[in-house]
Order: sequence, then C-alpha cells, then structure tokens
Amino acid sequence: MGNIKCLIIGGGPAGYTAAIYAARADMAPVVYEGVQPGGQLTTTTDIENYPGFENGILGQTLMDTMRAQAVRLGADVRIGSISSVDLSERPFKVVVDGGEQLLAETLIIATGATAKYLGLPSETKFKGLGVSACATCDGFFYRKKVVAVVGGGDTACEEATYLAGLCKKVYMIVRRDVLRASEAMQERVKNTENIEILWNCNTQEVLGDEYGVTGVRVERKDGEVFDIALDGFFLAIGHHPNSELFSQWVNVDKEGYIITDGKTSQTNIEGVFAAGDVQDPIYRQAITAAASGCRAALDAEKFLKMK
Ligand code: NDP
Repeated sequence: MGNIKCLIIGGGPAGYTAAIYAARADMAPVVYEGVQPGGQLTTTTDIENYPGFENGILGQTLMDTMRAQAVRLGADVRIGSISSVDLSERPFKVVVDGGEQLLAETLIIATGATAKYLGLPSETKFKGLGVSACATCDGFFYRKKVVAVVGGGDTACEEATYLAGLCKKVYMIVRRDVLRASEAMQERVKNTENIEILWNCNTQEVLGDEYGVTGVRVERKDGEVFDIALDGFFLAIGHHPNSELFSQWVNVDKEGYIITDGKTSQTNIEGVFAAGDVQDPIYRQAITAAASGCRAALDAEKFLKMK
C-alpha cells in the first residue's frame, strides 16, 4: 500500500473540516477519530452559536453531519487511536492501536483537548460513581437530585444551567468572587432559581460511601470549612490539550498547546500541521476549530504541491 498523502488525527470539528477540504483537493485523506469520535461537541447539548443553524443544532448531530460530509466527499474515516508517532523524517511513521504502522506524507494533528480534574484522591476514587466531567453525558442520572459543578467559566455555567433543568438543586463552587463566563452565560445562571453559587470556595474533599458520592467538603477563603450533601459532583474547570503524543517532536507552549507559525497551521516540522483546540488556548470554539481545520488542509495541499 502506498503512503497516505494526508493523515488526519482527530475526529472533531477541526479533523472533519480538514478531511472535507483535503478530500475535495484529491488528497485522499485518512482520518483516525480516536477514543471519542466527534470530539468534545458530542458531550454538549444544543449548539446555538454555530452559524447556519437558525434554531441551533445538537452537538452530536453537528458532528455526525460533518463526519458524513467528509465521508461523502471521499475521506476514509477510521475508528482507532494513534499510539505512537515518529516525525523524524518524511514519510512520517504512525502506529495505530499499538499494531499497524502507517506512512504519511503530511500529518494534521487535530486531537483536541480533554477535561481537567482537580487532582484530589477522593475525586479519583469516585470517578464514575458520582464524579463526572460531563454534565450532558451523565446529568440524566441525577434527575431530581442535588449536584455541584466546580468552575466559573462558560462551561461551568452551561453545565449548571443544563443540570438545573434536571436536578432539584445545583451548587456552583467558584474559587473567586466573580465568574469568568461571558455576560450572557452569567445572566442565564443568575436567572435560574435552583442554582446557588458558593463564592470564594475550594473543594477540599469529595465525600462518599460504598455506593458513591454523598457530598463535598468545601473551604471558603475566610477559613470556614463546611460539608454539603450531594448526589453528583461535576468538574468544569477547563481542559488540557491532547498533545502528549507529539510533544517530543513538535514545539508546544508551557501548557502543552502546539505552537503554529503565525496565521498558518504549520508546526516546526515541515509537513506537520496542527488544527483545533490542541493548538488554540484562546478561542476554543467549534467554529474556530473548524476554520483552523480548513487552514491545515489548505496548508498541507500547498506543501504537497511544492514538494
Ligand atoms: P475556562 O478556562 O474559561 O474556565 C475555567 C473555570 O474553572 C474558571 O472559572 C476557573 O477559575 C475555574 N478553575 C480552574 N481551575 C480550577 C481549580 N483548580 N479549582 C477551582 N476552579 C478552577 O474554561 P471553560 O471550559 O469554561 O471554557 C473554555 C473556553 O471555551 C472559553 O474560551 C469559553 O468561553 C469557551 N466556551 C464557550 C461556550 C459557548 O460559547 N457556548 C461554552 C463553553 C465554553 P478562575 O476564573 O478563577 O481562573
């Protein structure tokens, strides 16, 4: 089998958009979707800010449609995870699920970002037993129950309002006395009766028994420590870029985001491009990820033409 002209790692808005453009440019792209086909958008509900959908669209539907569009145009979308890469020379060597080795002329890294946890041992202990980083995946299990969401950004506000529609009560545990979220999101939280914000609070410990989470111990900045009874504990404190596989080869910043050259998707290695949240610490939107996937495919096309 010949070398793959354009190998795309990641099945989110960046990866699928890169595949759509690369397929239309006759680059016969191969896409590996990784462990979460569709990426982070499949863990959200309605997307209201993706242009073209007057009444919004479900995250899962948007991703299914992007994937189908890429396939219809000729992209070879495969299930599987890349376990290692060797980017020391072209063609690049890429190993799938610890077995098959592929050779790729160009590589587009679109592996996205993953939810952060606080790092408490009790949080790890109850992961899947009441501790979750995805309200839209797991909220269903907490209907008419009491939950907490940690964080004060757009994700935390979005998840808290989503959970408020299902649960009896939602606490937001916010470490400062302000929310980082956009005004619109803040308004939504403030106008939701069953959300209570615990300002200036940090989680000390997730409490639980053999059945799972029973509460949380919180410390306020003034030194007061108190427990709240809970059924579920949700993290919404940001994400880290999934760049570990590549950071031996490509330049990353101190948080691990892949560094690209100016307005292009070019990494420090010729023929390797990065798109989407793995290289974007600032915007991290579906639309910006999709746009950078487009740029990466155009950059890869130009690179191949000049070779
Ligand atoms: P952010 O980085 O914006 O916010 C993270 C939040 O978690 C902050 O309130 C932060 O507190 C808090 N936090 C971080 N670490 C800890 C910790 N160890 N303990 C307690 N709290 C902690 O992440 P988001 O995921 O909310 O958003 C990421 C990006 O995606 C943003 O650009 C956002 O605008 C965007 N987004 C947009 C949406 C939309 O438009 N529909 C929906 C969701 C996200 P502090 O403020 O003190 O740093």
